[in-house]
Amino acid sequence: MTSEQQTRARTVVIPQAIVVSELAALLKVTPVDVIKELMKNGVMATINQVVDFDTAAVVATDLGYAPEEEEREEEEAAEAGEAASTSLRIVEEDAAGLAPRAPVVTVLGHVDHGKTTLLDTIRRTRVTESEAGGITQHIGAYQTESPDGRAITFIDTPGHEAFTQMRARGARVTDVAIIVVAADDGVMPQTREAIAHAKAAGVPMVVALNKIDANNANPDRVKQQLMEVGLVPEEYGGDQIVVPVSALQGRGIDELLENVLVVAELQELKANPQRDAVGVVLEAATDRFRGVVATVLVQTGTLRQGDAVLAGLAYGRVKAMADAAGNRLKEAGPSTPVEILGLSEVPSAGERLVVMKSDKEARAEAERRRRAEEAGESPRAAVTLDSLFGEIHKGNVQDLNLVLKADVQGSVEPLVATLEDLSVDEVNVKVIHASVGSVTESDVQLAVASKGVIIGFNVGPEPGAKKLADQERVEIRQYNVIYDIVDDVELAVKGMLEPVYEERHDATVEVRQIFRLGRRNAIAGSYVREGTVRRGQRARVRRVGEVIHEGEIASLKRFNDDVREVASGFECGIQVSNFDDFQEGDEISTYHMEQSR
Ligand code: GDP
Repeated sequence: MTSEQQTRARTVVIPQAIVVSELAALLKVTPVDVIKELMKNGVMATINQVVDFDTAAVVATDLGYAPEEEEREEEEAAEAGEAASTSLRIVEEDAAGLAPRAPVVTVLGHVDHGKTTLLDTIRRTRVTESEAGGITQHIGAYQTESPDGRAITFIDTPGHEAFTQMRARGARVTDVAIIVVAADDGVMPQTREAIAHAKAAGVPMVVALNKIDANNANPDRVKQQLMEVGLVPEEYGGDQIVVPVSALQGRGIDELLENVLVVAELQELKANPQRDAVGVVLEAATDRFRGVVATVLVQTGTLRQGDAVLAGLAYGRVKAMADAAGNRLKEAGPSTPVEILGLSEVPSAGERLVVMKSDKEARAEAERRRRAEEAGESPRAAVTLDSLFGEIHKGNVQDLNLVLKADVQGSVEPLVATLEDLSVDEVNVKVIHASVGSVTESDVQLAVASKGVIIGFNVGPEPGAKKLADQERVEIRQYNVIYDIVDDVELAVKGMLEPVYEERHDATVEVRQIFRLGRRNAIAGSYVREGTVRRGQRARVRRVGEVIHEGEIASLKRFNDDVREVASGFECGIQVSNFDDFQEGDEISTYHMEQSR
């Protein structure tokens, strides 16, 4: 990843006018989240409504992005001054409230490469003395200080499950990912997975090359392996920061933190501490004595004791709040992880926490959500090759994201190349992760978070993955023949293209005699002049050249028998749906619609 890309990970270019659903896609959150942010800023909008850049920019900023107005070519020179002043106004407006915030960091990597040790070492050495003494409990996130005193928030739930689970719910929590790779073991399957997750989320990475103290440590080999997965270390001419560390001995930790800050700085992370808080639930559980205990990361605004809050279906007042050290807090600003008490039930990790006007409103909204969920209007829709087809129509998908699992490495590379080759101008086929082995829970989570589909070539899902896929309604498609995969993906891509339907003429029929069946139904005794008329075809009834009805061939009879089709030169009885007003001499022409692309 180049440093330029790292900057871009956070900047978002927004056109002068944008539909809410498109804005949501751009900001990688759900449309509901955008609508909520808009409401908070006093703008009521539906999913299909257009908002202007100024409004969109406020939402983007609240969600941690640095919005930039899309430049219109024509006005580049002449109106540059004016354009600049528009953006300036926003900057000024927001600048009043915006303040830099600490980066939020997640540690990812292969099992046993030292994630836990690294987090423990950082916590032990870098959490300020007064706090360290007070640490009695573990709340899944904590704030540390870099050697020069700048704050960094660590999410202490190792494993990309947590990372992706949150993204699957539309919450973008992490600003920088530390990828831990053991120098004595190298890039392993979960390392690749972690890199895929971070890349899919557009989160910049810092590699911690751990265990450099180990006897058989081989940092050069690891750097080679990193190049193979697309992370070119700086010393090889790339932009990937790789910091050698020993989590066990506490070596290189300061350099690691400094580099995390360098990468974070490129993103110019800001938030508005003056507004009501918006946060995300990192974890939650019920405690026998304290009730529901939730760890929440405040993303923007300030959360205060006594605030009425809503998180998914859980609501309540913040009865008490504490930091990672167990110190009671009255308020918590942006990038602060806190433990809160007072929610009515246990919210899921990744659920967005918002401050409501009153507990009454929080409760009403929670109840409305519950009813909607019970009525089956779950906002989380299934992701299937077919549904992706629908998404593109709403302008939501330009990428067909695939997670590919195969039985042998030899199949992986050719498959990736073949599949990505199926991309066309409008739809980009992207294999966001490809590896050998069964479909795991992590694969499913990656697919959920990226709205992707999983393809298993000669492999199936692990039981846990199957369950999760069913629950999250992610499609796992299994194949044994490469050709079938290519065929289906090609079909999906075609489906994702705006389909074009054309009318195909089938038959012309003359109405010669009318038979009445009771008072309502009329059968047109007809003669098929050309073509073949079939039951179910669409039909236009013409009288003296003018179309007087459009419907379907509802029934077709030869003598007294129902038939499926009648060819030209034959007589038949025809009923057309919702029509009983035939007259002799009417003409029926039949046709069907065919997808021409
Ligand atoms: P995790 O599964 O990624 O969380 O890995 P752990 O933090 O549990 O570490 C796995 C093993 O590697 C433990 O036995 C650690 O003591 C050891 N370990 C972690 N960091 C280092 C290191 O810097 N040097 C050496 N030699 N061992 C380490």
